[in-house]
Amino acid sequence: MSKNRTVTVCCPECKKESEFTVWDSINTSIDPDMEAKVRDRSAFLFHCPDCGGETYLDYSFLYHNMDKKLMIQYADTDEAAAEFIGALEESWSTDIFSSLKLLEKLLIFDKGLDDRLIEIYKFIVMLRYRQDRKECNDPVLFFYSDDSGKMAVFIYEDGEYICSSQFSDEVYNDLSLKYADKLPEFHKGVMLADENWAYNFLTGNVDGEE
Ligand SMILES: [Zn+2]
Repeated sequence: MSKNRTVTVCCPECKKESEFTVWDSINTSIDPDMEAKVRDRSAFLFHCPDCGGETYLDYSFLYHNMDKKLMIQYADTDEAAAEFIGALEESWSTDIFSSLKLLEKLLIFDKGLDDRLIEIYKFIVMLRYRQDRKECNDPVLFFYSDDSGKMAVFIYEDGEYICSSQFSDEVYNDLSLKYADKLPEFHKGVMLADENWAYNFLTGNVDGEE
């Protein structure tokens, strides 16, 4: 079952208070309508009944798709993530992210790709990007796939879109040939591939027990 509750939200634009439904857990196998609402982020969009202003609200929740055996704890703060990792004793694939990273991971799993290979690719793209530009502000990279199946990695700086790098099945196969047999076994139940993971892997600091 999905679990939700009603909270009072102060509109950031007109400062008036109104009610909003917050989801503690979303089970998209039992509530299939919620799958689309997570993906277009409408589940997190606060619409002010007074001024019509709209704001995305970030909060921690558990995403659970039983059909795909996928359970992701979305955490809006590092403290929330640490608390969840401490409490975790599940044998599901589980991951900790913030912001749009949940959507990115869902797209990666939809396509049946290994998110670790995608993180390695993103890290390589980021290194090239940093080399090309002497001055840049902590670029953030996202994998994206559109409805036609086209894949790309988008580069953002300070929340602004800068450019994208095409991604293809060919590139994925090359990554797979180069890295797949060197990837560590997942620690039971916990899968945590992100930029830090890719950095440690590429510099030889990842082993199977990490
Ligand atoms: Zn308002």
